[in-house]
Parts: sequence; structure tokens; C-alpha cells
Amino acid sequence: MCQKIAIIVGAGSAGLTAAYELLKRTDIYPLYLRKAMSWEEFSEL
Ligand SMILES: Cc1cc2nc3c(=O)[nH]c(=O)nc-3n(C[C@H](O)[C@H](O)[C@H](O)COP(=O)(O)OP(=O)(O)OC[C@H]3O[C@@H](n4cnc5c(N)ncnc54)[C@H](O)[C@@H]3O)c2cc1C
Repeated sequence: MCQKIAIIVGAGSAGLTAAYELLKRTDIYPLYLRKAMSWEEFSEL
């Protein structure tokens, strides 16, 4: 049987909660995509 995968775009609170609930309650494997930070954004931290 094929592994079911959900692709979640955005690793904010909604995306991470969705990934957690999928892992906890289903056999669907969450794959979340996180936006890369630019050097300008990084240097402003
Ligand atoms: C200054 C400030 C203070 C706050 N303080 C509080 C507080 O004290 N308590 C509280 O309950 N709430 C607070 N909030 C609100 C809270 O942050 C939001 O309600 C919550 O983060 C929304 O979650 P979200 O997952 O929907 O969105 P986000 O947290 O915005 O997550 C979205 C994610 O998607 C990513 N993303 C965007 N575009 C792409 C793309 N193209 N590809 C991949 N990833 C992408 C972003 O980088 C981000 O990580 C505050 C908000 C702000 C702005």
C-alpha cells in the first residue's frame, strides 16, 4: 500500500498543528515546507 502524504505549506502555528494532528490521528505522513529566510531577513533578527 502507498504511504499517504499531506504537503503543508507554511510552518506557522496552523501548519505545525495540522502536522501534529495528522501524525497523532491518521496514517497520513505530513511533509511541511518552510519558507527559506533571505540573508536580509536573517540579518535583521
Ligand atoms: C506582533 C504579533 C504578536 C502576536 N502575539 C500573539 C500572542 O501573544 N498570542 C497569540 O495567540 N497570537 C499572537 N499573534 C497572532 C499569531 O501570531 C497568529 O495568529 C498565528 O501565528 C497565525 O498562525 P498561522 O499558522 O495561521 O500563520 P503564521 O504563523 O503566519 O504561519 C505562516 C507560515 O507560512 C510561512 N510561509 C508564508 N509563505 C510561504 C511560502 N510561500 N512557502 C512556505 N512557507 C510560507 C511563513 O513563513 C510562516 O512561517 C501575534 C501576531 C503578531 C504579528
